Amino acid sequence: MHLARFAPVRFAHLPTPLEPLPRLTEALMTKGGGGPNLWVKRDDCTGLAGGGNKTRKLEYLLGDALANDADTLITQGAIQSNHVRQTAAAAARFGLACEIILEHRTGSNAQDYNHSGNVLLDELLGAKIRTVAGGTDMNQALAEVASEVAERGGRPYVIPGGGSNIIGALGYVECALELVAQANEIGLEIDRIVSATGSAGTHAGLVAGLAVMGADIPVLGIGVRAPKDVQEANVFRLAQDVAELLGHRERVTREMVVADCDYVGRGYGLVDEAVIEALKLAARTDGLLLDPVYTGKAMKGLIALARKGAFDGETVVFLHTGGAQGLFGYQTELEGELA
Ligand SMILES: *Cc1c(COP(=O)(O)O)cnc(C)c1O
Repeated sequence: MHLARFAPVRFAHLPTPLEPLPRLTEALMTKGGGGPNLWVKRDDCTGLAGGGNKTRKLEYLLGDALANDADTLITQGAIQSNHVRQTAAAAARFGLACEIILEHRTGSNAQDYNHSGNVLLDELLGAKIRTVAGGTDMNQALAEVASEVAERGGRPYVIPGGGSNIIGALGYVECALELVAQANEIGLEIDRIVSATGSAGTHAGLVAGLAVMGADIPVLGIGVRAPKDVQEANVFRLAQDVAELLGHRERVTREMVVADCDYVGRGYGLVDEAVIEALKLAARTDGLLLDPVYTGKAMKGLIALARKGAFDGETVVFLHTGGAQGLFGYQTELEGELA
């Protein structure tokens, strides 16, 4: 698989570590000794202004933006978007301007949610931010900002929400290759990969990468927003398109795409008791900082499924996609819940 022909620019700290989670494994062990042997792939440590999964996507997207002689990156996300933070950092790094549209998706009026966490970092990184109401057509909003930039003589490059198009998803094809190589090196047989799945690029890139290289490792996406049928359809479509770009569309089959969307709770970006339990358990067993929107929800799902015996005897790699910077946007929500 010749990913170099897509000319990514390099700034991520790769490979990210693959580490065991011995104390979380022990905490999830059932009375009969069942439960998963848990490992974590540390994509929270990709190195760009706090890191996270968008950094791998941005290596490919920035490669494309620079090849197209862009001078302004434009993207969008929810107020506490990690994708926006990493895009703002990538823009700074390459001397590009950055126009951001933040959507009031959760409806929170809290001071910390709207100004701390990722928002504070977006501002620090020099992005130009505008906010729009929840439910705004964000693709249209991106197009409008792009024409504004072009009208004043700029050269815009639009990155979709989450960086999830075929170019961005190549970052997770690369992650799949990297993970399989790491596991082979240490003789680890991975039975399953578990990851949060949102705008679909991470999940689709992993599935496409594993399928194209012929690695028979199932990926379980834990949904954070859309219902199962919508999420799986989005991931499947993108995974097929990515595999096609790599010359092997037929290798991605519908059964390879599995999302469990039973752990979304009250909605995107809204925390509940089980999310807080997951944040506390990961922190207090293996010192792992998860986030309230994505990895905390994915871990909520992983914990519930492990307790039901879904992973008994399996070696499970949890993909840590980052997001801990968002914790500071949820101080009000978490206050009093951490005892
Ligand atoms: C964006 C994001 C995800 C979801 O990845 P997608 O490619 O959008 O599905 C998961 N975790 C974190 C921390 C994120 O910021």
